[in-house]
Amino acid sequence: MALRPKFVAGNWKMYTTLGGAKELAAAIASGLGDSRTMVAVCPPTLWLSAVADVLKGTSVLLGAQNCHFEKEGAYTGESSPQMLLEVGCQYTIVGHSERRHGFGETDAFLNKKAHAALSAGLKIIFCIGELLSERETAQTESVLNTQLIGGLAGITAEQMKHVVIAYEPVWAIGTGKVATPQQAQDAHAYVRRTIAGMYGENVAAALLIQYGGSVKPDNAATLLHQPDVDGALVGGASLKADSFLAIVRAAG
Ligand code: PEP
Repeated sequence: MALRPKFVAGNWKMYTTLGGAKELAAAIASGLGDSRTMVAVCPPTLWLSAVADVLKGTSVLLGAQNCHFEKEGAYTGESSPQMLLEVGCQYTIVGHSERRHGFGETDAFLNKKAHAALSAGLKIIFCIGELLSERETAQTESVLNTQLIGGLAGITAEQMKHVVIAYEPVWAIGTGKVATPQQAQDAHAYVRRTIAGMYGENVAAALLIQYGGSVKPDNAATLLHQPDVDGALVGGASLKADSFLAIVRAAG
């Protein structure tokens, strides 16, 4: 089995003040100690530059929460991958369920973002996940399959080195309802098998698959020690350094 590092990322969504974001980033960076877990934070776009300054010289990676697929143009309110790189991002989230379901972003649209981000030199955390109604009607695997095939269409095996998949069941995001470790493991194993079918065993074995959905310090350890769970994408619990760092420690 491939030895994969653990990777915990915090999605701050549309929370924090500028001062609060800088303090949170500094507290996370200084609290990490000698953790071997990869750690990223994804602040609101407006704070990226300031947080990048705080994180300079630390091991904490910087991610955006979203990007556009064009390099520049008349796209009011959007940020291009090149702009995100220029302010110091290494990652961008693509396809968070709040973008899919709140802003109507489709697999084809997200595929354009994945191509644009990867071509520009960003790594992506590509989110997939089923709705509660889809889980209850036994459609979880077919939904994940469609999202992977549509979202990653045309992405090469070489580019997959820069792709992290976040399995985020929509019913578990921000709800306090967490997938059981077995539900998470089953979905992650399915994702890995699907990627093996698309790209071969080596790409699948190296792929990092994060779980996201109400991860908290008290449930992180069992989730993060499932064989196919390589880390977490954390929303609410990433807004306090103590709880985020406890999840990072649980991963290690
Ligand atoms: C998320 O925003 O990706 C997320 C998983 O949120 P939460 O941890 O709050 O459920």
